[in-house]
Amino acid sequence: MNPQHRKVLGVFLCASPKPMSHTLPPCPQCQSAYTYEAGAMLACPECGHEWSAEVATEASDAPRVVRDAVGNVLQDGDTVTVVKDLKVKGSSLVVKVGTKVKNIRLSDGDHDIDCKIDGVGAMGLKSAFVKKA
Ligand SMILES: [Zn+2]
Repeated sequence: MNPQHRKVLGVFLCASPKPMSHTLPPCPQCQSAYTYEAGAMLACPECGHEWSAEVATEASDAPRVVRDAVGNVLQDGDTVTVVKDLKVKGSSLVVKVGTKVKNIRLSDGDHDIDCKIDGVGAMGLKSAFVKKA
């Protein structure tokens, strides 16, 4: 590598908005370690190759932790108790405080618990309104 090229690489590294501790995967084309982020893509200044950074982003995604009203960590299959009267959207039904909900399933979104309640059916609950039984 000639000195001129080195200087250009230095500029690339300094311009990176990410801290230096953030290591990007090497270029899959030429194995260069000087890869940098270009929007949603990763790019290599040495061979000009660009590729999707999606895999790298996924790996840094921490597993989601869902907690109940008092901070217990909830898991699929747990049994919880409703701590507040909850109106069921689109109906006149109310899930009464103290209702036991068996075999919950955690899900993404505003209502982060999927479950089936006797007399109500399948519905979504907010983890903030339940307590691990
Ligand atoms: Zn490369």
